[in-house]
Amino acid sequence: MSENSFKEKIKREDFYYIEDTLVFQWGFEKISPKEIQKEIENLKSPRSTKGREVGFRYTVNGLEVVVWTTWLLKENKARESDSGWVIIRDAIRKNILYSSHPLHRTKNFAKNLLSQAWIAQWRIQHRPHCPECGKFMVIARGKGMKSRYWKCSNYRDHKTGKSVCRDWDFNLSPKAKAYLRRLRKKRRKYRDKRKKELKPNYVALKKRKKWEQKK
Ligand SMILES: [Zn+2]
Repeated sequence: MSENSFKEKIKREDFYYIEDTLVFQWGFEKISPKEIQKEIENLKSPRSTKGREVGFRYTVNGLEVVVWTTWLLKENKARESDSGWVIIRDAIRKNILYSSHPLHRTKNFAKNLLSQAWIAQWRIQHRPHCPECGKFMVIARGKGMKSRYWKCSNYRDHKTGKSVCRDWDFNLSPKAKAYLRRLRKKRRKYRDKRKKELKPNYVALKKRKKWEQKK
């Protein structure tokens, strides 16, 4: 995840591989240019407005995973310098409930993006029901920068009279959990290294946060 990797180009084959996997294997659909226009107008997309970037969507259980690829539709090439994103949002209100770390354009870009998409899809396909009242649990923000958990605040229908919380990863498959463990370890190392070098962390995330606040 070096700064230079950001500028690496994704190749057409990579993009087709991403598209094939998402659409033909996992049931995502491509977001139409008209919809993208609407999203930009609503300022609900964190993307640059220059060029129309290809995004994919998968909706189930009232939630939606969106994968932004940095691939420009008309130009048929990747955006000059940008990273990919995987987000989970409310399927109707479209507000963002979770977003992945920015996915830099390293040589593993396609694989990393697809891994995040796969995990996010699993999360919403297996959206948990509250063990107390049976309602769908919602995505809540924890204290950390990226920390999320599942929560049900319908405490009136709970025997305990309290909210119910579940770990963000509790319903993931062992394979997904192992993948995330490796990834988090790698990120921790990277952040520690930058700290030692007195370089800022979470740069892209903070930039993005500002963007989200504009809406
Ligand atoms: Zn409940």
